[in-house]
Amino acid sequence: MEDAREMRLLITGGAGFLGSHLCERLLRDGHEVISLDNYYTGSRQNIEHLVSNPKFETLRHDITFPTYLEVDGIFNLACPASPVHYQKDPVQTMKTNVSGAINVLGLAKRLNVRVFQASTSEIYGDPQVSPQPESYWGNVNSIGIRACYDEGKRAAETLFFDYHRQYGVDIRVARIFNTFGPRMARNDGRVVSNFIIQALANEDITIYGDGNQTRSFCYVDDLIEGFVNLFFTDEIHVPVNLGNPQPITMHQLAQEVINLTRSESKIVFKDLPSDDPRDRKPDIARARELLNWEPRIDRETGLQKTIDYFSALA
Ligand code: UDP
Repeated sequence: MEDAREMRLLITGGAGFLGSHLCERLLRDGHEVISLDNYYTGSRQNIEHLVSNPKFETLRHDITFPTYLEVDGIFNLACPASPVHYQKDPVQTMKTNVSGAINVLGLAKRLNVRVFQASTSEIYGDPQVSPQPESYWGNVNSIGIRACYDEGKRAAETLFFDYHRQYGVDIRVARIFNTFGPRMARNDGRVVSNFIIQALANEDITIYGDGNQTRSFCYVDDLIEGFVNLFFTDEIHVPVNLGNPQPITMHQLAQEVINLTRSESKIVFKDLPSDDPRDRKPDIARARELLNWEPRIDRETGLQKTIDYFSALA
C-alpha cells in the first residue's frame, strides 16, 4: 500500500494519549482522519487543536457496539491502558478488547480494508525471558487483576489472526511497550507521569515495591513512527514489538526525574500491586529488519519534553 495516496482513516481511541498523536501525524501526512472515542480515558483537549482541520472529524462512540463507516483503513487503539483505569471496570475492559476487536474486524472485512491492532507487551505477562521476542508465548495469570487487559489483548490478537486466516482480513498487530510523552493524562497513574507530576510539585515520589523492577520507555513520537511504518508496509502478518530496548529500574527513573526537574522531592516506597511484572524489555530485531525502525529519541530528551509539557499545565 502506498503511503502517498490520500486515505480516510478511522482511529478508535483517537482522543487518547497515543490516538491523538496518531491523528495529528496522519493529518500531517495528508490523510483524512475520523477519531472515534467514548472519552472514558481520552479527552477532547487532546484533539481540540485538530478540530478546525477540515480533514478531521470526531465521533463519540463506544467501540463495544458495532459501527459502520466508509473508510480506507482502521487503527484500533480504543482501550484504557493504564492499570489504574483498566482495573476500575475490568468487565468493560474485557468487552472493549474482545467486542471492540470483533467490531473493527467485521468492519474491515466488509470494507476489505487494512486494520491495525494496538496490542501490548502485557500479552507477555510477567515474562521469564528477557528481552521478549515476538516468539515468546508469555507468562500470564488468567485470573489476576491485570487479566482483564492482558487476556483481553491476547484474545484480541487471537481474533485478529483468525480473521486473517479465515477471511483473509489484512491485519497489522503492534505489541506496544511502555510509552510516554506529552498528553498523558494527569490522572493516568503510570509511572512516568506520576513521577514528573510529583517532582514538579516537590511531593513525595511513590515507588511501588523495592524499585528494582525494570521497564523500557519509548518516547511517543518514535512509537507513532513505528505505527505508521507498520501500517503502510505490505504483507506483515506477524506481530511486531514496538518499544525502546533500553531498560531502567524504577529507582533510577525516580532519580533521573528528580535531577531533571531539580526537585526537592523525597522517594517513598509503597506496596507493589499484585502481578506487577518484574522486568520488561523488547527485542526489536523484527521491527529493525521488516520496518527498518528503531527509537531515535533518547530517554533524557523525551523526559525533558514531557517535563516541559507538565510544567506548562501546572
Ligand atoms: N510504579 C511506581 N510508582 C508509580 C506508578 C507505577 O513505582 O507511581 C511502578 C509500577 O508498579 C510498575 C512500573 O512502575 O512496576 C511501571 O508501571 P506503569 O503503571 O507505568 O506501567 P506497567 O506496569 O503497565 O508497565
